[in-house]
Order: sequence, then C-alpha cells, then structure tokens
Amino acid sequence: MAIRTGQQYLEAIAKPRDIRIDGEKVTNVVEDPRFSGGAQTMAEIFDLQHREDLIDKMTYEENGERYGLSHKMIKTREELEERKTMFKIWSDYSCGTFGRSPDYMNVYLMAMAAAADQFGEYSDNVRNYYKHIRDNDLSMTHTLVNPQVDRSKPVEQQDKDLAAKIVETNDEGIVIQGARMVSTLSAYADEILVVPSGIIQNNQEAFPYAFAFGIQTDAPGVIHVSRPSVVHQNEGHAMDYPMSGRFDETDAMIIFDNVLVPWERVFTHGDVTMCNEFYKRTNIGAHILDQSTVRSLAKAEFYRDLAYTIVNTTKTDGFINVQNLLAELMTSVEMVRSVIVAAHAEAKMVNGIMSPNAAPYAALRLRYPDMYQRMCEIIRTLGAGGLVAVPSYAEFESEHTKEFVDKYFQSANGDSRSRTKLFRLAYDASISSFAGRQQLYERYYSGDPVRAAAIMYNSADKEPGMARIWEFLDEYEKSLS
Ligand SMILES: Cc1cc2nc3c(=O)[nH]c(=O)nc-3n(C[C@H](O)[C@H](O)[C@H](O)COP(=O)(O)OP(=O)(O)OC[C@H]3O[C@@H](n4cnc5c(N)ncnc54)[C@H](O)[C@@H]3O)c2cc1C
Repeated sequence: MAIRTGQQYLEAIAKPRDIRIDGEKVTNVVEDPRFSGGAQTMAEIFDLQHREDLIDKMTYEENGERYGLSHKMIKTREELEERKTMFKIWSDYSCGTFGRSPDYMNVYLMAMAAAADQFGEYSDNVRNYYKHIRDNDLSMTHTLVNPQVDRSKPVEQQDKDLAAKIVETNDEGIVIQGARMVSTLSAYADEILVVPSGIIQNNQEAFPYAFAFGIQTDAPGVIHVSRPSVVHQNEGHAMDYPMSGRFDETDAMIIFDNVLVPWERVFTHGDVTMCNEFYKRTNIGAHILDQSTVRSLAKAEFYRDLAYTIVNTTKTDGFINVQNLLAELMTSVEMVRSVIVAAHAEAKMVNGIMSPNAAPYAALRLRYPDMYQRMCEIIRTLGAGGLVAVPSYAEFESEHTKEFVDKYFQSANGDSRSRTKLFRLAYDASISSFAGRQQLYERYYSGDPVRAAAIMYNSADKEPGMARIWEFLDEYEKSLS
C-alpha cells in the first residue's frame, strides 16, 4: 500500500537529520520534547488515511494501489469536491492550525507535474519526482524566500551574499550554497521543494539564483536552523496547552552548505523566465489556495464553536454585545464557506486538471489575516479574566490544592475540571505563543499580502469600470439638457 501508516512515517523521520535548536543539535525529532508532539500529530493524520470509515474519502485507487487523494490529478468537479472533503478531514484534526499538513505541498507538486511540459528538458524530472513523492507517501516542506537581509536591493546586489545560489554545475548536478527562509514543517518533512518566488532580474549575475529542485531533508549539507519551540517545556499538565503541545508544525531557516542536487532532482536552473513565470505556467496557486481555504474554514469553525462553548459556560450568551461577537464569527465562517463554493462553481480545466477559480481565493487571502486576528480577539474578549483565572490542570492532582480548585473554579453549568480545560484551550487558541505564531502564519504563509494586493490592483483591467462611470455621468448630464 502506497499510503503510509503513522508508525511508518515516524520511523522515516526518526532517521538522523541536521536540526539545530536552542544551541543544540537534534537528530531524532520523534524523541525530542520540542518536536515530539507535532511528530505524533503528523503520524495520527497519516493514520487517518487507513481508518476504515475514512479510507475511501482520504485515498484513491489506481492500478490496484492506494494513494493519498491530494496527489490525485483530478479531472472533474466531483473529484474537486471529494478532494475538499479530504482536505477538511485533515484540517479539522488540528482545528485548522496545522497549515502545512502534507496535502498543501502534495497539491503543489501535483500541479507542477500536470504542467511538466513547461519544464522543457527537465519535464521528466518533475514527473518522476511527483511519482516518487506520491508512491512513497512522503511529506514535503518548501522554501521560496531569500533571507531578510536588505529588501531594498535585488538578491544579486546584496552586500552580504547569504541567499541560496548555484555555486557549481558539474556532471553530477548543481551545488547550492546559502540560505532560504522560511521552511514550515521542515522538522517533520521527508523532502524540501526549493522553488522560486519574487522576481529575478534578467541579468548574468542573477542567473545563479534561478532554480527549482527537490532534496531530502537529510541530504548532506542540509541544515535546519529552527526557531525556538512554542511547546511549553515545563508545563504542569499536558491539558494546560492542548494545542501548542500537539500542533506546533515548526519553522526553520534552511542552510544549504555545499549541497549537491543530482541532475534528476533539478527542475529548472539558470532560466529566469521560467522562474518568474513559475506560478503562472503551473497554476499551482489555485490548488494550494484550495487546500488553505478549506483549512481556513476548519479554523473559522473551530473559533466559532469555541466561542459558543465559552459563552454557554459563563451564561453571557444572552447579552446583545456578546451575540454580536458570536455573529461576527458566524459570518466569518459563512464568508469562507461561500468563497469555496464560488471557486468550485467556476472551476475549469487548466493543464489537464480540474482547477478552482483562484480569484475568490486570492480575495479571501487578503482578508483572512485580519479576520483571524479578530477571531483571537473575540475569544479574548469573551473569555476575559477567566482566561487567566484558571489554574494548571495539575492542581486537580495536588493533595494541597485539590479541594479548593474543585470548588472555586466551577462554571454555572460545569465543574471545575471542565471549566479549567475549556479556558486553557481558549488561552492556547488566543493568547499563547502558539496563538501568536498562528496569527503571523495567517498573514505571511503564502507571501506578503501587501504586495499581493498591489499585484491584484495593478493586473486588473480598470478601463471598463472607469468607462461606465463616465458613461453614467454623461448620460445623466445629457438627460438634463
Ligand atoms: C509563520 C510563517 C511560516 C512560513 N512558512 C513558509 C514556508 O513553509 N515556506 C516558504 O517558502 N515561506 C514560508 N514563509 C515565508 C513567507 O513566504 C514570507 O514571510 C513572506 O513571503 C513575506 O516575506 P518576508 O517574511 O521576507 O517579509 P519581507 O519581504 O521582508 O517584508 C517585511 C515587511 O516589509 C514590507 N516590504 C518588504 N519588501 C517590500 C517591497 N518590495 N514592497 C513593499 N513592501 C515591502 C512588507 O510589506 C512587510 O510588511 C512563512 C512565513 C511565516 C511568517
């Protein structure tokens, strides 16, 4: 069976890799407390593919073999809906917080493979890599962005030469030296897809920065420099951080220290036009936004449902101001849901694949970061002092404190344990460093929304709109004379 079990996944990522964190070198993420919770979550989502009641929703069969549905080259609207169901099952599992569950990159690579002809002499490399990932059910991370050194200059004019670039081309492949940011999930991924973003200047000096390739996360010279973990390291009880402890997908800078990328893993190099037109030619955006909008729906539903539960326990749900906040969360859910309906209703074949219309997704992509900030703010507003006036869940096991916490932390309709559990969840979802990182993620995970908005404006055809304004005025003026 091509689909991996959680156990097979854990065995694969337990192999030594060069991961640096907190001044230490971690080789086995499955055993390290900063990474083990996320690794376990990854294993659990792989296991969902095998559940008897989910296997037909999560996977598809081809030539007697089962593959993850997000790898499928979908041809019909019906298959697009089926893929949405698959995305939703994985997203719901982490309440929408595991942004880079493997389906995100699976659809990315699927779209690349569907457009393989665009890669010229490397087209078979793209097709073979897609098959390699699909057939082995591997998980991928990706890195697009050059280090944040001096954003006022193009990469080849930087005073400090830190960005990943080709330093050698030889019989075996290309050699890469330098860094790329950010790689979410790199600690849990089998492979890194290193792909272009932004505009590369069309001059000789910029050519070494034009490339795309796939490499194993444990390849010699691949160094993951991870941010400090948001997993609480001295928690009193695991229930105190019900999200951070399980759903931190990690982020890292990737340093390529003279990494040899064999030719069969190179997808383009030195071709500035291909890199600058990478997303236009492959239509990757429509598919990754399909996944991430379904995930955004899962997240919006989770925050709405969390708010319902909080106000039910505090009996604040009868106040009109509280109802207004709840209605705001409800409208967020409905807006995200409607965007998916619109994108699917206007789906069409692109590169032989049934592709949602990316325009509604691009619009939501610009609004969602603020919507999500509000979701967190509403949870804080509704929870208020209760978010900090709950103890560690460990107090329920303390012989000194148990009798007090059992009595004084009750809600109107629940005991102290249930109220403490609920408010620790609300804290983790809206205030903790996990929640802060989630808010940053929603703003930037697929590029800078400020520049995306400018691109949207600049690429729109404004002429017909302006013409109708003048026509409206001219007609009215004429009618007056
Ligand atoms: C939590 C998180 C996870 C991520 N995961 C991944 C991942 O898995 N893979 C991946 O490839 N990337 C990932 N990213 C990186 C993401 O692609 C970048 O953060 C995003 O493209 C913005 O680039 P930057 O962070 O370098 O910001 P910058 O480009 O440095 O921008 C910083 C600020 O300066 C402004 N600015 C900079 N340059 C310009 C300009 N030319 N014009 C106008 N304004 C400008 C921006 O608007 C912004 O406000 C992740 C980011 C975050 C925060």
